[in-house]
Amino acid sequence: MKKICVFCGSSMGKGNQYKEAAVELANIFFEKNISLVYGGADVGLMKLMADRLMKLGGEVIGVMPQMLVDKEIAHQGISKLIIVENMAERKLKMAEISDGFIALPGGLGTLDELTEMMTLTQLRVQDKPIGILNTNGFFNHLIEFFNHSINEGFMRDEHSHLLNVNSNLSTLIDHMGNFEAKAMHQWIIDIKNERRDH
Ligand code: AMP
Repeated sequence: MKKICVFCGSSMGKGNQYKEAAVELANIFFEKNISLVYGGADVGLMKLMADRLMKLGGEVIGVMPQMLVDKEIAHQGISKLIIVENMAERKLKMAEISDGFIALPGGLGTLDELTEMMTLTQLRVQDKPIGILNTNGFFNHLIEFFNHSINEGFMRDEHSHLLNVNSNLSTLIDHMGNFEAKAMHQWIIDIKNERRDH
């Protein structure tokens, strides 16, 4: 994977471990010669990650809607800033130019971006790996929710392959490199059969 898109907080989070994870991610991207695609902001974990990778001499590409640029939170010191019309277009652009996606701890924006990428991969609109860096067990409750959704028959077990979860970034990136998209054929047959049976 040459370019990885990272979704993470526009806030710093409490304590140091989230900030350390953002800096560590930049270190590992630099070591592995991976370019960073992200939301283009100059705030929160996003800023720490982008600043660190720029300082090391890596490549950082931001994608930001005009509305956020106007609020003056665009990072002015990155390799390239792509300006788009709106939040929806931003996700499309980030998806188009990246080879995979990693979520670090964050809030609603991070959740929105992560689940959109999972949905697009589930539908085979794209076939790109997705990872969660589970620093400090931050995503445990979300993973519990996905398992609950599988148990209650709203998510399919085979779709749990959509997500790689690890608290070690190098291992996570290695696992993502082994990702193989699964055919959605059987899933479509099954949900049609479910409709017929009720
Ligand atoms: P959040 O997790 O709610 O802090 O939002 C962070 C994620 O949503 C990032 O991955 C961004 O792409 C996007 N985002 C949300 N708020 C902002 C912001 N103020 N500036 C830039 N990107 C943002």
